[in-house]
Amino acid sequence: MEDDVERVLIAEDVIDKRLDVLARHIEKDFPGEVIQVVVLLKGALVFAADLTRRLPRMLEIECINVASYHGGMETTGTVNFLDHKLPEVKGRQVLVLDDILDTGLTLKAVVDRLKEEGAAQVKTAVLLAKDKERNADVEADYVGFFIGDEFVIGYGLDYQGRYRNLPYVGTLKPEAV
Ligand code: 5GP
Ligand code: MG
Ligand code: MG
Repeated sequence: MEDDVERVLIAEDVIDKRLDVLARHIEKDFPGEVIQVVVLLKGALVFAADLTRRLPRMLEIECINVASYHGGMETTGTVNFLDHKLPEVKGRQVLVLDDILDTGLTLKAVVDRLKEEGAAQVKTAVLLAKDKERNADVEADYVGFFIGDEFVIGYGLDYQGRYRNLPYVGTLKPEAV
């Protein structure tokens, strides 16, 4: 698996330290509230596990399945909610976690939907945000790292379902694609 990696963009210890900072910011912004965390599967799985364990407070975790990439390297442009039921967020303080903000279509669709469902507040945290123009008018409230506009894997992010378990964020060699 590691042989397929071209470049390590963000090393494990760098992610670790950055998550401490993000967690402190989130703690400050949700004083005394029970946060309803909503994790976008599967990409945000690793980020969510590491970030929520840094939040020393009462919170609840729900996961939702959305798809826009279907395993490849290009977004399809439409966002599909794959669950029968969305988490109950009426009146709640919601924190949405996603792996990466690219075109913004996913995060925008999810935030809009949760607001429609009656969430009192919806904030968003992403591990990564590509430094580019978005197709949807959205930015995340908390960003781990801004990166260039290239396809990355690791720390939850996949290529055709693989590489999610790499402990760092990196790029793939052309011959692995
Ligand atoms: P957006 O809707 O912002 O274009 O894309 C959001 C989703 O596309 C992310 O949650 C992620 O699953 C996927 N995605 C976007 N960029 C990348 C990338 O560089 N690598 C991987 N593995 N997935 C990406
Ligand atoms: Mg995703
Ligand atoms: Mg994917």
